[in-house]
Amino acid sequence: MPRQASPPSARPYRGRFAPSPTGPLHLGSLVAALASHADARAHGGAWLVRMEDLDAQRTVVGAANQILQALPAYGLQADEPPVWQSERQALYPAAFERLLAGGHVYGCACTRREIADSVVNQRLPRYGELIYPGTCAQGLPPGRTPRAWRVRVPDASIVFDDRLAGRVEQNLAREVGDFVIKRADGQWAYQLAVVVDDAAQGVTDVVRGADLLDSTARQIHLQRLLGLPPPRYLHVPVVEAPDGAKLSKQNGAIALSLDADEIALTLARAAAHLAKVGLAGC
Ligand code: GLU
Repeated sequence: MPRQASPPSARPYRGRFAPSPTGPLHLGSLVAALASHADARAHGGAWLVRMEDLDAQRTVVGAANQILQALPAYGLQADEPPVWQSERQALYPAAFERLLAGGHVYGCACTRREIADSVVNQRLPRYGELIYPGTCAQGLPPGRTPRAWRVRVPDASIVFDDRLAGRVEQNLAREVGDFVIKRADGQWAYQLAVVVDDAAQGVTDVVRGADLLDSTARQIHLQRLLGLPPPRYLHVPVVEAPDGAKLSKQNGAIALSLDADEIALTLARAAAHLAKVGLAGC
């Protein structure tokens, strides 16, 4: 399907690349960066870089700097200095308090094992993410204390138009369940931070890997509860490793080289991937 141009908006185009510094840039992450950069340039918009480094356990020392060094070497020059989520921690509590005050959030005592053992997950085995069965939605079981904090979700379809995939619908209650916005380790969850930051940075267009298509309905739900303007979305099919999974450092992605010949070759491979998935303009 051809990429839809971003429909006109009252807000000036602002796009972003938001890597998690879990390793150096590789072909897969370069494709996402290149697509968002090209889309911003095609719309005469600004392109920002945000380091999503809230998850200290997954953050790899030195990876953020490697990414920030590689991007301009690959011709991807941000229009503003990069922002770091770890330095924006003051923004997230206000959103959390607002959701709490609206009765949208509750404390949850469940462990991962308890959630995995629940009837809903036994009946509907899923790979990866578990559906939250709602055990603590009406209050904590006696004697238990909250570990994580979850936002309630509606039993109704959230519908949005992805600029490449077209119309997408997801029923969060059936497919995800109430989801975590503050984790058991006290950290703000990606879903909350990304929504708060995209709004705070005036992001109008999110262009990112299709592995995040499944997170988009959750983010739209939070935007609606917080009264934040929704960005437009374009999810780019991911580069696959030989095993068919998303290319990542776990299945052999190689760190991008800063050698000039390698840069030209890798950019050509990234552009070929974008052309193959119907994003020839990128
Ligand atoms: N930090 C996320 C990742 O590297 C991407 C977040 C986003 O683009 O919304 O997978």
